[in-house]
Amino acid sequence: MSESVNDPMVYLYSKIFTCPVCSKEFVDFLIRKSKLRQLDMDSDFRTRYRDIDPNLYEVLVCGNCGYAALHSFFDRITSKQQDWIRKRFRQTIDTEILKCRLVRQMH
Ligand SMILES: [Zn+2]
Repeated sequence: MSESVNDPMVYLYSKIFTCPVCSKEFVDFLIRKSKLRQLDMDSDFRTRYRDIDPNLYEVLVCGNCGYAALHSFFDRITSKQQDWIRKRFRQTIDTEILKCRLVRQMH
């Protein structure tokens, strides 16, 4: 059995995504599923893993327009939904929110 790792990047890799709403590219993190080690399972079937909670990385967030969705649904957005988001979130969001996910998940 290997020891716990305090560096979250052991479990993550970065990837460039293109936002379907604003067409800007951004970098977000994905889980290296092969590195996950299951610890336990809750009564609601939520799996607990050593060192990291992969659920925190299931949501992709565009730092330019604020569009966010589960990774598996990120590109599945209708043009009507895109227009709705464009009209309401024209301001650039603080990209520090993406960095906060890395820090929070380790505590
Ligand atoms: Zn965007």
